[in-house]
Amino acid sequence: MSPVRRCSRTACGRPAVATLTYVYADSTAVLGPLATYAEPHCYDLCAEHSERLTAPRGWEVVRLLDGSAPARPSGDDLEALANAVREAARPQQRAAEAGGGRTADPMEVARRGHLRVLRSPDN
Ligand SMILES: [Zn+2]
Repeated sequence: MSPVRRCSRTACGRPAVATLTYVYADSTAVLGPLATYAEPHCYDLCAEHSERLTAPRGWEVVRLLDGSAPARPSGDDLEALANAVREAARPQQRAAEAGGGRTADPMEVARRGHLRVLRSPDN
């Protein structure tokens, strides 16, 4: 493994958590996750210097770090959301199953979280 990456700011030396990349063509400074390897025009920054980053005059700062940029839903996000919903539904199911030996509703066919699928009484 490579040695621990350090903040590139003078007299800082804290562990780097982000990489700042200057895109000169677009006058944009992109602050993103720590780059896999150092490239020209890339500067590793610690958490504090990432927070306090200000772009040069006329430049735009684009932050790609978690929580600092508006989230754009992706497939992974939707899957994570679906998993979170399933997690949230589970304790209710456990509570229902451990409900003091209560007999299940004979009309109940299936249960999805707080939603229950019921047979039609006409059947
Ligand atoms: Zn620093």
